[in-house]
Amino acid sequence: MNRDEEPASLISFESVETPLQTAIIRQPSPPPVLADVQDLIPPSDPVTEADHGMEYSLSGGLVSSESPLQLHISTTLMDSFMKLAKSNTDKNLETCGVLAGSLKNRKFYVTALIIPKQESTSDSCQTTNEEEIFEVQDKQSLFPLGWIHTHPTQSCFMSSIDVHTHYSYQIMLPEAIAIVMAPKDSSRNHGIFRLTTPGGMSVIRQCPRRGFHPHDPPPDGGPIYKQCTDVYMDPKVKFDVIDLR
Ligand SMILES: [Zn+2]
Ligand SMILES: [Zn+2]
Repeated sequence: MNRDEEPASLISFESVETPLQTAIIRQPSPPPVLADVQDLIPPSDPVTEADHGMEYSLSGGLVSSESPLQLHISTTLMDSFMKLAKSNTDKNLETCGVLAGSLKNRKFYVTALIIPKQESTSDSCQTTNEEEIFEVQDKQSLFPLGWIHTHPTQSCFMSSIDVHTHYSYQIMLPEAIAIVMAPKDSSRNHGIFRLTTPGGMSVIRQCPRRGFHPHDPPPDGGPIYKQCTDVYMDPKVKFDVIDLR
């Protein structure tokens, strides 16, 4: 799948009906630091664009996707999000939010939890009025570091829709994370995930399907996504809640 055909929204579950032209128009205008990333991706070689050896410049440094930078999140962010989500969760409706932040001293910090306007069901959540998200990010020079959403009654996992949504984040930033909050899952009530590289990323890049659907495992036999081991819950990180609902 060509990158230009990616779904328009960062948290979108209905891209099938999105005309290509709209998708392009509604793409976020990334802040300069991300534009650098994209400029350095070889446009003619879709296989390597997010895989081995991709190097890009952030704050003037060359970074390999093989060794992602640390990502720090406030220890209280998940609790705050669950409070903001509670009225939905009580009604068995999902809630989603965008994790935005900045890069300092070669570490990413989630400094804003943006709750966009959204429409949700018990197993999906779709943002609306996405231009408001981009406006907030642009004004505060934040860029998207990932997203968080609830599974009100389901277990803690990434659905096929979730992995497609996350692909859009991770293709822009290899460090981007997906947090799933699953209060009813007694074995694991939250998870922090990324698609595997190159396996999961290549499977999803090549998958034209939308809605809930099965995925074959990557050619190397590994999983499509896995838990992150290099995300830091940091009591010193401060974050703003920006509730756009
Ligand atoms: Zn989900
Ligand atoms: Zn798929």
